[in-house]
Parts: sequence; C-alpha cells; structure tokens
Amino acid sequence: MSKIIIVGAGFSGSIIARKIAEELDIKVTVIERRKHIGGNAYDEYDENGILIQKYGPHFLNTNKYFIIKFLMQYSELFQHNTKLLSFLDGQYIRLPFNFQSVQELLGAEKSEIVINKLRKNFPGRDRVPVLEMVDHTDTDISAFGTLLFEKAFKTYTSKMWGTDINKIDKYVLERVPFAMNYDERYLNKDFQYLPKNGFTKLFENMLDHPNITIALETDALKHIEFKDNNVLYDSEKVDLLVFSGPIDELFNYKYGSLPYRSLDIRYEYSEADSVLPAEIISFPQAEGKTRSTEYRKIMFDDSNCKGSVVATEYPLWYDKNAEIGNIPYYPVVTEESGKMYEKYLAEAKKYGNIFLCGRLAEFKYYNMDICIEHALEKFEEIKEKLK
Ligand SMILES: Cc1cc2nc3c(=O)[nH]c(=O)nc-3n(C[C@H](O)[C@H](O)[C@H](O)COP(=O)(O)OP(=O)(O)OC[C@H]3O[C@@H](n4cnc5c(N)ncnc54)[C@H](O)[C@@H]3O)c2cc1C
Repeated sequence: MSKIIIVGAGFSGSIIARKIAEELDIKVTVIERRKHIGGNAYDEYDENGILIQKYGPHFLNTNKYFIIKFLMQYSELFQHNTKLLSFLDGQYIRLPFNFQSVQELLGAEKSEIVINKLRKNFPGRDRVPVLEMVDHTDTDISAFGTLLFEKAFKTYTSKMWGTDINKIDKYVLERVPFAMNYDERYLNKDFQYLPKNGFTKLFENMLDHPNITIALETDALKHIEFKDNNVLYDSEKVDLLVFSGPIDELFNYKYGSLPYRSLDIRYEYSEADSVLPAEIISFPQAEGKTRSTEYRKIMFDDSNCKGSVVATEYPLWYDKNAEIGNIPYYPVVTEESGKMYEKYLAEAKKYGNIFLCGRLAEFKYYNMDICIEHALEKFEEIKEKLK
C-alpha cells in the first residue's frame, strides 16, 4: 500500500491525483487548505446567478489541442475569445494594441505611415513584443513603441509587480505583444475556451474517483514533518508527496521568503445588465487599480442573472499574515528570487520522493495550459517512480 499525499486541489494537484487514481489504480489523498477545490480557478454562483471567479478572471488559451481534449473529459467547453479594452487618455483603446490602436492613438494621417512601416519591417509576423518596437532602428516605429511602453506597459507593469520595470522578467513584459493586424483577440492562441458550467464543476468531475479522498480546510504543513531524510505525514512515512503550494512555506522559509504579488479584489454590484464596454478593462494610468472584469459577460448562459458585478483588482505585496493580500497570486521572478528558489529546489531534491508541481511550488508564472501540460508530464515521471 502506497501512501500518496497531494497538497493542493488546483489544476496541478487535481490532475496528478486523477491520473494516479485512474491509470495506476492507487489511492491518493488530496489535502486542500481552502474550503473548496479548484485552486485559483475556483468559481461560484452569487445570489444573483452570476458566476464569479473568486480569485480573478481565468481564460483557457492554448495552441495545443490535447489540453482542450484532456479537459473535455471533465466538462463541456465553449469557445470564447477574450475581448479587452484599455482606458488610455480618457478613451477606450483595443487591447492587444493593434493597427486599430495606432489609428486611435495617432490619428488617421500619421497612423498610415506607422502602419505601413510596421508591415514592411515585420513581414510575416503576427504579434511583436512592444519592447522590440521600442528598440527598432526606424524612428517612427521606435517612437510609437515608446509611446505604448510609456503610456501603458510601464505604468501597468510597475503597478502590477510593485517593482522597478527593469527588474521584471522580460517574459512578463512580452506577455501581450502588439498585433500586426486588426486581430482583436487578447491572445492569438488557436484554442480559447471556457468551461460551460464553470471551472469548479470541471474540478468536481476530475476529482470524482473512488481512489481519491479529499480533505478540505486542512493545512498540510501542520501534518508534514521531515525526519532522517524521510517525509512523514501524520507521523507516517509517505511514499510520495506531490506539493503544489508555496515551496518556501514547505521548508519553513529557511532560505527566506520568496516574493509574490497579491490582489485586493473589490466587487461592485449594479442592477444594470451591462456596465462596462468590454468584459475586461485595463487601467494603466489609474491610481492603484489595474483592471476590472464584468463576469456576466463571460458566462455561457446569463439568462438567469439579475444585474451585473464588476470586480476590480488592486495589486499589492503578498503578506501571509495580512488581512488583505494574504494569497500568493503571482511569483515575482527576479535574479535574486530565482537564486533563492534554486536553494529550495535543491532542498526538495534531497528527499527523492517530493514532486513539486505548479505555479507556487515551481515559482513560475505558469498559465493554466502550461500547468496542465506540466502536470501531465509530472505524472509520467511519477509513474516511473512508482513502478
Ligand atoms: C488573477 C489571476 C488570473 C489568472 N488568469 C489566468 C488566465 O486567464 N489564463 C490562464 O491560463 N491562467 C491564468 N492564471 C494562472 C492560473 O491561475 C494558474 O496557472 C493555475 O491556477 C495554477 O494552478 P496550480 O494548481 O499550480 O496552483 P493553485 O491554483 O494556486 O492551487 C494551489 C492550491 O494549493 C493549496 N495549498 C497551498 N498550500 C497548501 C497547504 N499547505 N496545505 C493545503 N493546501 C495548500 C492552495 O490553497 C491552492 O488551492 C491566473 C492567475 C491569477 C492569480
């Protein structure tokens, strides 16, 4: 009999639990600190029938159909191309910035020159990171890139990450590149979907297996011990520990606290059926807030909803003991934090039976598609280990 403990019922933990339970026919226990499964993708209906994603809006975007196919085993999905607007200088501009935004920001006459130069200088490119435009040798392209960078990217990103823009991982800055056409989809991924009945239902189905036991409202750290190079849970030796929580917590911060950004999400209910001009509005220039989401606009079926809810995000530093900001949402990957993470990773490797999986345990800015793919890969490693 193997004792397998999986910490966290988000995508990482739930996928591995299901695969071990089903494919290997082994019993697993999923330990979850929160009152619910689903991790940060958890959603719930409010009293007005609106499906709220409690930890911020989530959209599935991927170029890999096998990820969609995998999820379809647990929920019907519907196609949804996320549409965003950015509120800049008092007007709503399409996000991702695209040729339409050039016209909106520069006016028709000047935009003709810039658009033609963009076409000529980036042939065959669908999307181009704004920083690449900033660094371009053509002065019109570089001036327009700089305008976008200064007005939108710099302010939004510094607010979001609470740190000097130069210290931010380049990957983060390149997340929403400029569209070299009139494409209005936020991300240019081939498959953009949402679960018809919400993410929580999908997780319920994924975790519904006779070999899976779930313990909610249980902090695994109160039960885990490290003794003589063994991992113990409730004083019993564990054969496998899959951990998807924050890695610094697992080792009691022995190398220091890894930095995370958190969010203060404030909700406003309105009796109107529609409030915002798009499902998400980003506010690069506003004080404190980064974006607002109107959840009713992203539901598959909103016919039973009354009114609408707008959730506005105010980023702040994560502090485990604070009243607001006590959820580690975004790992802040810098050179310094990367080095600290490496020490934790080396610590985990000493045990041989700890598998780190997910955004917090691997301290990486994973989106759901990457998390899913990665959890499936980790399962293959685990399968080898349990043979
Ligand atoms: C605001 C926001 C918006 C996002 N939007 C998108 C999007 O649009 N598209 C996209 O692809 N991705 C998005 N993501 C990323 C997405 O949330 C993650 O990729 C995914 O949820 C990570 O899954 P996970 O299982 O690794 O971690 P999590 O979902 O964080 O799950 C980890 C779980 O472990 C539990 N846990 C931690 N420590 C313990 C402990 N000691 N004991 C017991 N349980 C513990 C936690 O309570 C949590 O439930 C977004 C993330 C955020 C924060």
